[in-house]
Amino acid sequence: MTIAENLKKFNSELPKNVTLVAVSKTKPVSDLMEAYNAGQRVFGENKIQEMEAKWQEMPKDVQWHMIGHVQRNKVKYMAPFVSLIHAVDSFKLLKEINKEAKKNERVISCLLQIKIAKEDSKFGMDEEDAASLLASEDFKKFQNIKVIGLMGMATFTDDEKQVSEEFQTLKKIYDQFKAQNSEFRILSMGMSGDYKIAIANGSNMIRVGSAIFGERNYN
Ligand SMILES: *Cc1c(COP(=O)(O)O)cnc(C)c1O
Repeated sequence: MTIAENLKKFNSELPKNVTLVAVSKTKPVSDLMEAYNAGQRVFGENKIQEMEAKWQEMPKDVQWHMIGHVQRNKVKYMAPFVSLIHAVDSFKLLKEINKEAKKNERVISCLLQIKIAKEDSKFGMDEEDAASLLASEDFKKFQNIKVIGLMGMATFTDDEKQVSEEFQTLKKIYDQFKAQNSEFRILSMGMSGDYKIAIANGSNMIRVGSAIFGERNYN
């Protein structure tokens, strides 16, 4: 199937409240333009410089989501244009984003990444650290960032029960935080292999790469 056909299928099947982030990392601009011409406007990248290069080339109504781990010294490259940063996992990073957003006279929306997978390799905060960050006075002083929800990645496994339990855990944390943070409205969970389980467990933003653009040669 072509990229346009894959997108059409997603758009016809996804519930209306679920935003599809087309994860275009490693793919050439010609592939992104095929998606763009099929109506897709939200794209996800995991490397800041690659995203910046594509931003330069693509039409300006694209919304760019940074879905990968963020190094603080690179925040400045995306601060002028990024529309959502999914994987914020420390106060220090949030502080840097606030600083660079201010320089650009912007307010940048962010999600906190929560570690839900049992594997060690995944980034993210635990629930307690995220809760104390959100409750802290230092956080409340930031005027150029807005934390609007949470992001998480399930363990990479065929065990659907485990994946489902991990997503349920994140949904529960999201609901608790949402009750105390009026800005909360995004729960980013689900990728090509597990988005159906994620949606069944309350996701309203999925990050899908290979099921739209085909397999990647490298990560
Ligand atoms: C690459 C990536 C995705 C998309 O993965 P697919 O399996 O190709 O859909 C989603 N989220 C993050 C954080 C990624 O790095």
